[in-house]
Amino acid sequence: MKKLLLGLSDGELKLLAAEAGEKEYRGKQIADLVYRQGCRGVALMSNLPAKFRSWLDKEYAVGRSQIVKTRRGKDRTFKVLLTPAFGDFIESVGMAYEDRFSCCVSTQVGCSVGCSFCATGAGGFKRNLAAGEIIDQVLTVGEVAVREKMLPPDGRVSHVVFMGMGEPLMNYEATLTAVKLLNSELKVGMRNITISTIGYVPGIYRVAREHLQLTLAISLHASEDTIRRRLVPGMSRFSLKDIVEAGRDYFRETGRRVTFEYCLLAGVNDSPSEAARLAELLKGMNCHVNLIPFNPVEGKNYKPPRADRSADFRRVLEDGDIPVTQREQRGAGIEAACGQLRRMQRQ
Ligand code: SF4
Repeated sequence: MKKLLLGLSDGELKLLAAEAGEKEYRGKQIADLVYRQGCRGVALMSNLPAKFRSWLDKEYAVGRSQIVKTRRGKDRTFKVLLTPAFGDFIESVGMAYEDRFSCCVSTQVGCSVGCSFCATGAGGFKRNLAAGEIIDQVLTVGEVAVREKMLPPDGRVSHVVFMGMGEPLMNYEATLTAVKLLNSELKVGMRNITISTIGYVPGIYRVAREHLQLTLAISLHASEDTIRRRLVPGMSRFSLKDIVEAGRDYFRETGRRVTFEYCLLAGVNDSPSEAARLAELLKGMNCHVNLIPFNPVEGKNYKPPRADRSADFRRVLEDGDIPVTQREQRGAGIEAACGQLRRMQRQ
């Protein structure tokens, strides 16, 4: 199997050129081609000498995916089902806002955590994605956004959220390599990159010690361990207290305010007493809570909360001095709850 050029840094590409007996600047040329000019194949790198091209072609591929399906939403959102370089199916989402364009990427094919409300979890874990396969999603979503006129021809993805299929911190090396290259090669600001974790505690401590300015979002979805274990069985070994403590550590190490995600499920975790317990758990912490009304998933019995219940939940948190936002429900018409498009493909 060929190795991928996407996922290699400028320095690594220079070394690769030197290994082939070429001048170092050829490495920089490859970085320009794969990260900034959308080059999809070694054979298309016409500004490289033919001998170097054929040397490269024996061992390397660029690492671009194929688009299998695109679903467009009414709210300037789209979702692509992709076959990544090393095969299978993954999903990525593009979202246009007035002031930015955001791409949501997957980090694994499937997921081992098995959250009871999630379509990806229902399919089990298949494999980790390579760093290049993660970066490809941002390039591909950017290209689709230009074709769909959601971005101008010279526009680019400004924000990346690691919130698609898979748990990013359980594919740590590839995730961090992708984060650093998105920043250095694709010029996505570090503060505009969000890693969303389901609460994988060792990963939170580890990423804190990278001392990067990225945003960390931790999904809690419960204020009480029994409910959390039911919703997120694959992380039962970590209590909510352990997870919140890891979030405090992240703030101490990086100075970055942590976001806690809380998916509101009618009759399961949306009562005022649960909101009060959550406020108590997060008391005194520099954080904010993002409430996400559940996006219905076929085959799951959960329902979104009533509007008055989510308003009450929010009020209780605010009364406890916890800053709260409620995420806009975008992409419901394109099966934008994680893993749904891929699941349809497999049926
Ligand atoms: S919600 Fe995230 S962590 Fe949980 S099963 Fe789905 S992809 Fe995995």
